[in-house]
Amino acid sequence: MTGERTLTRNFHRPDAHTLAAYRGTGGYTAWEKAQTMEPAAITEEVKKSNLRGLGGAGFPTGMKWSFIPKNHTGPVYLVINADEGEPGTFKDRYLLERDPHALIEGMLIAARAIRSAVGFVYIRGEYVEPWRRFSAAAREATDAGYLGRGFDVVVHRGAGAYICGEETGLISSLEGRKGWPKLKPPFPAIKGAFGAPTIVNNVETICHLPHIINRGAGWFASLGTKTQGGTRMYSVSGRVKRPGVYEASVAITLRQVIYDLAEGVTGNGRLKAVVPGGSSAAILRADEIDVTMDVDGLKNAGTMAGSAGVIVMDETVSIPEALMVVARFYAHESCGQCTPCRESTGWIYKITERIVEGRGRKEDLDTVLDVARRGAGTTICAFYDGAVGPYISYIEKFRDEFEALIPK
Ligand code: SF4
Repeated sequence: MTGERTLTRNFHRPDAHTLAAYRGTGGYTAWEKAQTMEPAAITEEVKKSNLRGLGGAGFPTGMKWSFIPKNHTGPVYLVINADEGEPGTFKDRYLLERDPHALIEGMLIAARAIRSAVGFVYIRGEYVEPWRRFSAAAREATDAGYLGRGFDVVVHRGAGAYICGEETGLISSLEGRKGWPKLKPPFPAIKGAFGAPTIVNNVETICHLPHIINRGAGWFASLGTKTQGGTRMYSVSGRVKRPGVYEASVAITLRQVIYDLAEGVTGNGRLKAVVPGGSSAAILRADEIDVTMDVDGLKNAGTMAGSAGVIVMDETVSIPEALMVVARFYAHESCGQCTPCRESTGWIYKITERIVEGRGRKEDLDTVLDVARRGAGTTICAFYDGAVGPYISYIEKFRDEFEALIPK
């Protein structure tokens, strides 16, 4: 049920990041094949594979590519989002470190599909070793003639702002400006980096492309569910026996991720709650884990697949404290452009902090829920909606625990 490993198949090899090792395991053969395909045929293959974005939004990848205006004649940019900052998520760093040529080969394929001559890789500033490894791989690929002949890659390092992982914030930062998200529309596929049509894809999403081209869309689609193909990498942290990054089918259940891949719960051994898709995903109770990990499976369960950062909490974990930590993060990372986000994230952090410190007021929980609901859907980017997921779900599902901390 966990499916076969493709993205991580070479992770055990100490030299997996080198061109020699990558070529030795069939690397760049998909790129050779892709060069015999028309760009539209590559996009069609990716559409049929049911590959969906694995950075957070889960949008169908081939469909995103097809939004580039057909009659456009100027530059088109491919931007790789390697600004992995979602709390509980640490998968892209391993791809950059251990299989950087898979990303380069995937970029070559995507660039051909969207007719791009320049790609940017925006790497989180704190990811020093991933940046070194990827940069070295890009130099090897240039020397070997994969890059520099119709497609170049520019590596850009971020400076540690979570909001630069939001695609329009990332584009602003790439352009040399403050990493502020922009109102959509226009969507980046129409008007993105430097005013040109731009496709922003996550590292893991792009690393799937060589396998899809080599083994076919049908094979990839068959690994997953009806509406999402393939495997993905689950970052599992918190109270589990074996925290780590695991690759498995998107059809696996959350229960299997916790009990089969990560070998069960530590602490007092009894599961209390799980966040299935990074800190912005709504929390699930222990009786809600028989759900598939694909985008639609988790959406139907009232949460989201997000970045597949699975954060496990046993019965000894305080949910109010967990919410306070999450609220502090969002208050710190709000870029401040939108009043509901800038003000509410700070208020909610202060309220959760006073509840945890035993200074809460009777009306606090309803105030948080009210403030969270009013702001949702009113802001420039999805950051605030992402913050609202935990605010509401932690309180709605574990209200007793919060109330127990509030003086009568
Ligand atoms: Fe900035 Fe928050 Fe508005 Fe996004 S929602 S643009 S993070 S203030």
